[in-house]
Formats: sequence, C-alpha cells, structure tokens
Amino acid sequence: MAIAPEAERPARPEESLPHPEITYIGCTRCGTQIAGLDGRYACAGCGWVNDWSEGHGPLPETGRPG
Ligand SMILES: [Zn+2]
Repeated sequence: MAIAPEAERPARPEESLPHPEITYIGCTRCGTQIAGLDGRYACAGCGWVNDWSEGHGPLPETGRPG
C-alpha cells in the first residue's frame, strides 16, 4: 500500500502550529520569579500583571461579537 506521510502532516509542525512559549521573569513589584506564556505574566504573590502589549505576539482571538 502507498503511504504519503508528507501529505498527512506538515514538514515543520512547530512553524505551522505556533504554540505559547514559557518564559520567566522577576516580578517587578515583589521580585518573585514567575513563569508566563509569550512574555505575559501574572504574579500569584502580589497580583501584579504586565500589560498585554508586552507579550511576544498578538493575543489569540477569543471570538468577536457579531
Ligand atoms: Zn509579585
């Protein structure tokens, strides 16, 4: 039987299907080392969150009204 694996999955799944990258930063308010996704952080210790625009990429769409 003929199998064409190239046709079933892309050559570079990492590029065709971008996924969030785990990044770390020291909280600018309390200094706790916190982990985030794509440059977006939320500190569980003091509640500090960085601005969404500081992220490495655009926010995923959650659906638009209309
Ligand atoms: Zn903090």
